[in-house]
Amino acid sequence: MKGAATMALVALAAISCGGGQSSPAGSSAAPSTQSPPPSAAASSTSGAGATTPAPTPSPSPSPTRTGPPAFTAKVTPIARKRLPYSWRPGCPVSYQDLRLVTMTYWGFDDRAHTGELVVRKTVTDDIVTVFKKLYAMRYPIRQMRLVDVYKGDDYDSIDADNTSAFNCRAATGSSNWSNHAYGEAVDLNPRENPYVTASGGTAHANAKKYAHRPMHGKAVINPGDRVVRAFAAVGWGWGGSWSGTKDYQHFSRSGR
Ligand SMILES: [Zn+2]
Repeated sequence: MKGAATMALVALAAISCGGGQSSPAGSSAAPSTQSPPPSAAASSTSGAGATTPAPTPSPSPSPTRTGPPAFTAKVTPIARKRLPYSWRPGCPVSYQDLRLVTMTYWGFDDRAHTGELVVRKTVTDDIVTVFKKLYAMRYPIRQMRLVDVYKGDDYDSIDADNTSAFNCRAATGSSNWSNHAYGEAVDLNPRENPYVTASGGTAHANAKKYAHRPMHGKAVINPGDRVVRAFAAVGWGWGGSWSGTKDYQHFSRSGR
């Protein structure tokens, strides 16, 4: 029995197609050399526009339009010399446990600004999370400077509608440390959101018209609104929900 050895010869057609010269390197060469023959000039005016290519569609609405800058936040240690009034020995938190948060905020002028807030290092994530949301919702903030700009004077900072956090001081109307002394409380737009006593009084004349809730108004914080919810999402409470005295500007980690 003869074995039929079949040998499959695979012919590899190594024929290279395309000489390489079929297409010129630049396809743009053709249109640029196109020029109507001089004789066609006369007829082209009366023609059906055969020589006129379809109008090039103009670029769609410019996608390169620049909007407000993206939110940024930088967390850094803070030198004691930046806190000449708001910190002193004997405060419940060392200045070394505080952090400077430099971040974007939306201004009353409908523009982005950069502000500074000092908080305890344990809550920087909470703060950045909340203020990123506030910026995204374009919640306006008058200004955000260290209370030391006002020599640590809470009254002057509030009167200037300054948003601030750390200040080594007692709670209003108390001898106990405020949550601000721990760097775990923020006062937001204090003029539009005043501290109101149970009898309805405020210490700031420029804030009297903002003493009631709910009410409409720029930067006014109302029960259950987006600002309150942004803080609640990181577990922070609002002074506007207290019974009796209301502190509409005040948000804190402890809720007090
Ligand atoms: Zn406060």
